[in-house]
Amino acid sequence: MTAALPPARALHSVADLVAEGLVPAADAPVLETVAQAFRVRVTPQMRDAARASDPVARQFVPSAQELTISPNDLADPIGDDAHAPVPGLTHRYPDRVILHVTKTCEVYCRFCFRRETVGETGHLPQAQLDAALDYIARTPAIWEVILTGGDPLVLSARRIAHLMARLNAIPHVGVVRLHTRVPVVVPDRVTDALIAALRLHPAVWVVIHTNHADELTAAARAALARLADAGVPLLSQSVLLRGVNDSVQALETLFRALVRLRVKPYYLHHCDLARGAGHFRTTIAEGQALMAALRGRLSGTCLPTYVLDLPGGFGKVPVGPDYLRHDGERWLVTDLNGGIHGYSDPAES
Ligand code: SF4
Repeated sequence: MTAALPPARALHSVADLVAEGLVPAADAPVLETVAQAFRVRVTPQMRDAARASDPVARQFVPSAQELTISPNDLADPIGDDAHAPVPGLTHRYPDRVILHVTKTCEVYCRFCFRRETVGETGHLPQAQLDAALDYIARTPAIWEVILTGGDPLVLSARRIAHLMARLNAIPHVGVVRLHTRVPVVVPDRVTDALIAALRLHPAVWVVIHTNHADELTAAARAALARLADAGVPLLSQSVLLRGVNDSVQALETLFRALVRLRVKPYYLHHCDLARGAGHFRTTIAEGQALMAALRGRLSGTCLPTYVLDLPGGFGKVPVGPDYLRHDGERWLVTDLNGGIHGYSDPAES
């Protein structure tokens, strides 16, 4: 019998997953093929959560379905590369940039839209980081810098502090936003030193990626509380995933849990056209029906915006249910129960 791995070690391979009982040994050969195409990494916290929850396991444990590549699947589904003025930087909208400070993550999600580029290949080299920061400094239209990756919170607190100080020195950068899985998947990285580093910029926002309430372990909840108590505003983004959270109950539970943790649900993403992730994708009509049902049950505080990131780098578009149409004379507005009501604009003067 194979000995269990020590509790603090992340799982990096199919052999690790077999040893931990997360996949049967008989599946190992096909999953090795999957792992050669798309990396595997599961933190100890998510290993434990995956044992207790299929929706968590599906997000991190590879499956043979990932070998099915549909003709619509794309290597760069949201067009990061189409808008890169210098390596490591995406400048798609005039007032904001995405700075890819690392390609490394604490977990590798099986549906990731950057699954072709993420990996344990290290952080953005210093010369490229300097060039990206120079570009930001000489582009006054940039008001917001979004740190992503990979996952920016795999960087040490010392590196984060250095980066925040440099961004704080650029007067036109009003806001720094970090997109991260870390507080959920490896919450003990949210240390006092990390929080102090984040707070070196006066307007830092942290956006948590989480897809199911079963990910919100006691340790994750404590990490989010530490951030909220320190005054760091928290948002969440989730991906609508078949077999994970494509039900009213799963989404309602997740969004209510987040708001109780002082995290505002921000975006529900329609699943991107990442290669080998088609089995996770719902239809847009299914997503709209879920959002319509949730609107009748949850306050606006709990409701994210359902968005599609257009393939090719054309940006995000809200694709939620439509409550409004115009009949040529007046607006027709559909209420939560399907009733239709007329509404007229003020007469033009
Ligand atoms: S943590 Fe984010 S960037 Fe990393 S694999 Fe998951 S979705 Fe992709």
